[in-house]
Amino acid sequence: MRGQECPRPEDKDMSTDNKIVKALEWLGNLLGKNRVISDQASLVIYSRDIFMPGYLDLREGKIQNLPAAACFPETVEEVAKVISRARENRIPVIAYGAGSGVLGGTIPVTGGIMLDLKRMREIRSVNKIAHTVEVEAGVMGEDLERHLIREGFTLGHFPSSIYCSTVGGWLSTRSAGQLSAKYGKIEDLVISLEGVLADGSVFHTRNTPRSATGPDLDQILVGSEGTLAIITAAVLAISPLPAKKIYRGFAFNDVPSGLEAMRVLLQKELVPAALRLYDPIDTGFNQAKLSGPDSGCLLVIGYEGANDELTELKSKLGFARLLEMGATDLGEAPGLKWLEHRYAVSYNRSKIMASPGALLDTIEVSVIWRDALELYQKVAAAVSKLGLVMAHFSHAWREGVCIYFSFLVNDPDPEKLRQKHLEAWKTAMEACLEIGASISHHHGIGLHRAEWLKKELGVGHEILQKLKNEIDPHHILNPEKLGFGEKA
Ligand SMILES: Cc1cc2nc3c(=O)[nH]c(=O)nc-3n(C[C@H](O)[C@H](O)[C@H](O)COP(=O)(O)OP(=O)(O)OC[C@H]3O[C@@H](n4cnc5c(N)ncnc54)[C@H](O)[C@@H]3O)c2cc1C
Repeated sequence: MRGQECPRPEDKDMSTDNKIVKALEWLGNLLGKNRVISDQASLVIYSRDIFMPGYLDLREGKIQNLPAAACFPETVEEVAKVISRARENRIPVIAYGAGSGVLGGTIPVTGGIMLDLKRMREIRSVNKIAHTVEVEAGVMGEDLERHLIREGFTLGHFPSSIYCSTVGGWLSTRSAGQLSAKYGKIEDLVISLEGVLADGSVFHTRNTPRSATGPDLDQILVGSEGTLAIITAAVLAISPLPAKKIYRGFAFNDVPSGLEAMRVLLQKELVPAALRLYDPIDTGFNQAKLSGPDSGCLLVIGYEGANDELTELKSKLGFARLLEMGATDLGEAPGLKWLEHRYAVSYNRSKIMASPGALLDTIEVSVIWRDALELYQKVAAAVSKLGLVMAHFSHAWREGVCIYFSFLVNDPDPEKLRQKHLEAWKTAMEACLEIGASISHHHGIGLHRAEWLKKELGVGHEILQKLKNEIDPHHILNPEKLGFGEKA
């Protein structure tokens, strides 16, 4: 990664310094000076996201990858003007939601302008007949959910980062919420998009329930991590607020029996909202906090819905099925405690991250039921040679499951610590590729996963690269992310 290089010095007619001065001038003219920042102290925040090795740089006092400026557009027209001028001047633009991404997706590796979308924070309308919300990209997750609750609805999208992530960030990374089994991932909730392409043109896709009008543009842009377009607003599906919530904990002897029970629930029409199986180490780690079992694996399960009778019936049948499959009922406490602490878990990371010589990270992957156990065992065995590793199976689908590994590596030497961290990632990514799993379930690619993405997608990545070259020939939008390398 490079630092302080905005913009690329490829335009021989104008020096880099001159370009920066000019960019600040035209940005100020377009948005007003109070919506542009360029002082280095303020820009430090934009030089990194939550990609874990970034903490090592911070601990060592290294600040690199500073952008030239950050700006705060308030309308789609303003975004379009900024993009047009940036394109004319060949200056990179990096969309920035709340910077909670964990793969380096917002790092301005070639400098440029950070387009911070948090002032595009209007919740434009709630359609209570169609059950949709039209919302701007910069709205924070928690603000949207509170608004919907007041209207009697929920988005049903609850990432652990709900307090520190935006709608645009969710859409751009294919985010998953904790109740994905019932409500789906963000790509399942998107109905239409508004945004700006690299040439500055504004697009709106159509707000219709389904269509057969060729490839789905929304789904091409969802997950594109700011490389193909800036998303400025979206229409998303919403659900009535659940009237009834029934949460509970069960214990299984081991991972294979717990996984089998999850599969059966998903495939026997007993789909809950929350379904999470913790492996023995993760169960031990959460034992006190969640009133989990002393040994074996904790399974947290929650049914909820707007229809009381249906929710009760489903939970009754679901819980009975778990008992038939060898589970021990732990009562309501683990389920209710999980609900209470569900956003607290992730923030505990920062305590560990503050300790020198330690690096904690997570890797989430997606795998069909047949291969889930093998992948889990393979990665856990290999990473345990490097440090502490634990996993939970946090999102379950009819076809398979997400395995969410957490690992902690230690070394007093920062370089060796980096190597151990990378080794753990390599092991997990290569195991996925070998087994035929997907290298990411919901955190996305950013910078860090690019090389493995190319291997997973094969010719698919070549097609995406051609699309990128066609619609953003000068690679203005978030350069070098998603493994996009060539440019005109
Ligand atoms: C404590 C913690 C817990 C987490 N838990 C979860 C979880 O449960 N589920 C989950 O899915 N993720 C989780 N994450 C990861 C992260 O929160 C998600 O990736 C989230 O979607 C990022 O949103 P953001 O607004 O912070 O985006 P950013 O980090 O600002 O950006 C992420 C990427 O999207 C692009 N982007 C942002 N906004 C736009 C836009 N409007 N148009 C085009 N491109 C854009 C950026 O350029 C970048 O490439 C967690 C992260 C942390 C730190």
